[in-house]
Amino acid sequence: MDRRIYMPNNQKIKEKILQENHDPVDIEHPRQQQMVELIKRNYWWPKIKNNIKKYIQGCFKCQQNKVQYMKKAEKLHPLETPEGLWQEISINIIGPLLKSNKKDTIVVIVNQFTKMVQLKTTTTNVSLEEIVKIYHNEI
Ligand SMILES: [Zn+2]
Repeated sequence: MDRRIYMPNNQKIKEKILQENHDPVDIEHPRQQQMVELIKRNYWWPKIKNNIKKYIQGCFKCQQNKVQYMKKAEKLHPLETPEGLWQEISINIIGPLLKSNKKDTIVVIVNQFTKMVQLKTTTTNVSLEEIVKIYHNEI
């Protein structure tokens, strides 16, 4: 037996039903499909789905949650190009500095992509070959 109530075309009554099936704390702002099922247990009217969709779109709390949910989802895929990790680097040589363990120079390798910095102590007469070696050994 269908005991649903067919609603007269009264905007105020519809809005009240929508409100009662969405806003209360114990219902916790159901999504569209849930809300359709919830209301259809007791009521039905033409374009009921459309009205529910619009009501949720107009609910400040639901739209806020949606934005937060989307932000969280984005964070799940932060780096999709790890192969680019060390492709762009800059090398700086700082020195001569005060000697420490016979080393007086610091080679600074900065990854422009991640801003990761590698430091290696060496000597002032370090050659380019040696820097390349440091780069490959350290990273
Ligand atoms: Zn809501």
